Amino acid sequence: MDAQDTLREFRDRFHLPLGKDGKPLIYFAGNSLGLMPKSAKAIVEEELDNWAKLAVDAHHAAGTPWYTYHEALRETTARLIGAKLNEVICMNSLTVNLHLMMATFYRPTESRFKILMEEPAFPSDTYAIKTQIMHHGLDPKEALILARPREGEFTVRTEGIVDLVEKNADQLALVILAGINFFTGQFFDIKKIAAAAQKHGAIAGFDLAHAIGNAPLSLHDWNVDFAVWCSYKYLNAGPGAVGGAFVHERHATNTKLPRLAGWFGNDPNTRFRLHLEPDFIAVPSADGWQISNPPIFAMAPLRASLAMFDKAGGMEPLRSKSVRLTSYLEFLLNQNGSKRFTIITPTSPDERGCQLSILAHEHPKELHNELVAVGVKCDFREPNVIRVAPTPLYNTFHEAWRFARILAAHK
Ligand SMILES: *Cc1c(COP(=O)(O)O)cnc(C)c1O
Repeated sequence: MDAQDTLREFRDRFHLPLGKDGKPLIYFAGNSLGLMPKSAKAIVEEELDNWAKLAVDAHHAAGTPWYTYHEALRETTARLIGAKLNEVICMNSLTVNLHLMMATFYRPTESRFKILMEEPAFPSDTYAIKTQIMHHGLDPKEALILARPREGEFTVRTEGIVDLVEKNADQLALVILAGINFFTGQFFDIKKIAAAAQKHGAIAGFDLAHAIGNAPLSLHDWNVDFAVWCSYKYLNAGPGAVGGAFVHERHATNTKLPRLAGWFGNDPNTRFRLHLEPDFIAVPSADGWQISNPPIFAMAPLRASLAMFDKAGGMEPLRSKSVRLTSYLEFLLNQNGSKRFTIITPTSPDERGCQLSILAHEHPKELHNELVAVGVKCDFREPNVIRVAPTPLYNTFHEAWRFARILAAHK
């Protein structure tokens, strides 16, 4: 299967961390931090050179002018998430963007003030959402609704989410779910959930941290209201790299929407009149949520990474390999004897990305330590879940096979 893999040459375009034996680790941690594209270094050095040689003039004279650096990221990002160009802006980090989106889309009233989210959720999302509720003088105990897996199940059923939406229909302001849950790897039915929320007058937003660059997305057609993401996981853009936000066209073009504004969200025609223009005039696109000038060194590696997604032909071929790779790993693990562990990720490829979450019934921590000792990089989530994410850009079928052998040998 590796020999037939049309994407196999991409592995060579990444720096593969080596184990003690000098051989590449089995790196299944791309869901935490994607590997470094070899091309990232040159692109960052190019910007350091521009700084050295051009200084302030690099804002306009550099090969990719700093002033509009975010433009260089827009087209590929829009393709990855299925958005129109005016719906996408690469800026900030994920949690910051989540706050910015809530500043616009969470405007609680006496009757409509509840937010629905999933559990377990990533802690940063929980903190952001709870503190937004408190920021409005409300109590999360009353305003936060959690969609949990049923007793004895690991993932949240779509009908369970829709039920909660209907039960809280008159009071629901906002639904915020992951695209793909960080813990279980469940890929939510974004289209259906957005439609259910909107049918009852609520806004639907999604956190795509584990979905972008991993699963196919059609945010515009699914009529999602807003979305946010980071780019250091499956987008391989490096630690703390700039993330992004999607604002559906019907909101993005509405310059009247309240927001937390800064000069880079202002109409470029008046942006540089500085103190002469005290009134904010929003750009009529997702750019209207941009606050500050682009952080070039946190964006440059993203250019390198996005170029690779283009070169690979976008999400379609990547997803096609990803489905086969993950299914192969799942098949091998199930053959191994599933008594010692349970894969809690959904079995249908339509309901997951590349990650499999393995719940170990006995000595989970020791198991993880053993995996580390033999050169596997994957992560452990308390109390007993090992997450493995074979990614289509740089992992191989042989690595999936080796991983399954290692797990089979574990007593
Ligand atoms: C990775 C991740 C984050 C990280 O947030 P930052 O603001 O980028 O530090 C937040 N939420 C989810 C769901 C994540 O997976």
